[in-house]
Amino acid sequence: MLTTRAFGAPFRYIQGPGEIKNLPAHCASYGRKILALIDPFLFDRYSSVLHSAFQNSDQLLTTVKFNGECCQEEVERLMKLTMEQRIDVVCGLGGGKTLDTAKLTACDLKKPVVVVPSSASTDAPASAMGVLYHPDGRHLRCQFLDHAPELVLVDSQIIAQAPLRLFAAGIGDALSTWFEAEANRASGSLNYVGSGFRASLAARAIARRCHEALLEDAPKAVDDLAAGRLTEAVENVIEANILLSGLGFENNGCAAAHALHTGIHELPGSERLYHGEVVAFGVVFQLVLEKAEPKFFDEILSFMISLGLPVCFDDLGLSLDDSALEAMSRRIMDGASGIEAEPFAVTEEMVRKGLAEADAVGYKRRRLFDGKTRPAFCREKAGCSD
Ligand SMILES: [Zn+2]
Repeated sequence: MLTTRAFGAPFRYIQGPGEIKNLPAHCASYGRKILALIDPFLFDRYSSVLHSAFQNSDQLLTTVKFNGECCQEEVERLMKLTMEQRIDVVCGLGGGKTLDTAKLTACDLKKPVVVVPSSASTDAPASAMGVLYHPDGRHLRCQFLDHAPELVLVDSQIIAQAPLRLFAAGIGDALSTWFEAEANRASGSLNYVGSGFRASLAARAIARRCHEALLEDAPKAVDDLAAGRLTEAVENVIEANILLSGLGFENNGCAAAHALHTGIHELPGSERLYHGEVVAFGVVFQLVLEKAEPKFFDEILSFMISLGLPVCFDDLGLSLDDSALEAMSRRIMDGASGIEAEPFAVTEEMVRKGLAEADAVGYKRRRLFDGKTRPAFCREKAGCSD
């Protein structure tokens, strides 16, 4: 058994209201010429915010609008621009695809990269991974990078302006962190640092703290954000969603909750769902598969439902017949979905039964709550693709 343990992380993580305005100072130690790749929906607004922030510095800023897809062509376009303009630092501002494009561009050119997420919807910003797609949006591959970004800069005011549904999805993604870390610990699986190592004590402590922070602060944070208040609870959940969950998954590994995300691509209509919404239901699936202690399971389900997180296929706006269930189970068992990190041998039959049972248990439990929950962000808006 491998005894070497390893821990990977961004060089620096900075989070606070209005921090975007300090980007010049935060970038100063990495170089003078900065290329900022900005999400198309945010371009007009933040291109001018950044230009005025850089006005009084001796650094040179170039802003570029992201083309909307993290594909090889887009990475090559930006690599060309970076080389032509002798850029020192690549910065990405926006959603996951914008940030991944910035990461992949910088990695290929061995340049420092700064990521500025526009929402707290996933734990990807702090990781040393990027997901590449075909130009038409089909998934191509997940690419491991040499290291995590030099800087993850989180402006909590920007996060607070993003749709609440994205924040809730981030809570779903972050909620999986500790359960998956525990599965990896119990099975002795390797983490995602470099070629894969044993998890460190730090990694486990971070995953546990992520879980605690969500249980303590997520309900208040959702209410505060809905009322337009940027409070300590909101800041804590932003940190849990982006930093604790990011460090937690990369340094411990994923398991059944993320395996469900891999399998759900088999279902038509799943493309309009956010990653964290699917992973939230993945948590229910994992707890069913692991035969979680009923009282504890019920507490987690209540917590999720009270936040409006999806706990069954109906919440995700998906219907499931036998052939869809079959295709999904096959996909989950096909290759490294994360299911192999569970601490017992999992068969396709177990996956199929586990999905059906998770769906039934979640649906039944949620019905008891109807009318007594916070707005069900995910359910209400499962039909939209914002
Ligand atoms: Zn995730």
